Amino acid sequence: QSTLCRLKEKVRDIPDFPKKGVLFRDITPLIGDGQFFRLVMMIFLERYQRRKIDKIAAIDARGFIFAGALAHILGIGLIPIRKKGKLPYQTFETQYASEYGLNTLTIHRDAMRKGEQVLILDDVLATGGTAEAAAKLVESCGGSLVELGFLMELRGLKGKERLSRYPVYSILQFP
Ligand code: IMP
Repeated sequence: QSTLCRLKEKVRDIPDFPKKGVLFRDITPLIGDGQFFRLVMMIFLERYQRRKIDKIAAIDARGFIFAGALAHILGIGLIPIRKKGKLPYQTFETQYASEYGLNTLTIHRDAMRKGEQVLILDDVLATGGTAEAAAKLVESCGGSLVELGFLMELRGLKGKERLSRYPVYSILQFP
């Protein structure tokens, strides 16, 4: 059995979460297993270690898990992109519609210098609304987007199409 199949089996399906009709892909069994979490990080490392990346931007909240680990291994600074009301300094903000309603993401205005090469990481690409908002925030700060990287992509929600302006990568693909 291939490594990616074994990784996929560590993602648990939760029907009707956070609301009826949504099939939630739960990554906690995967990150709760040190071997599998490490495997995911080795795949991200292999993909990004030879690229010119100045900063890694992490999407609130599960993006922090992977971005934090990768920033640590690569010795690159981490930028939190957070839900409104969480960041203490001056921010840029972008509103977007998610699967579950309207949300606002924010970034510190001084998070990066103009022209810095920025990788954005999150756990799941669904409709792409969150990632698109994050990409706009990085651009507001003058950053140049290297790629949007995800542990998994939910193909049926067409996030990759929505993000067609940007390079997008995911380790696992679900229907
Ligand atoms: P999107 O904006 O519709 O692409 O939703 C992506 C965001 O919602 C990401 O930040 C994910 O963490 C979260 N998300 C959406 N669906 C799932 C899921 O099935 N499992 C885990 N997180 C999800």
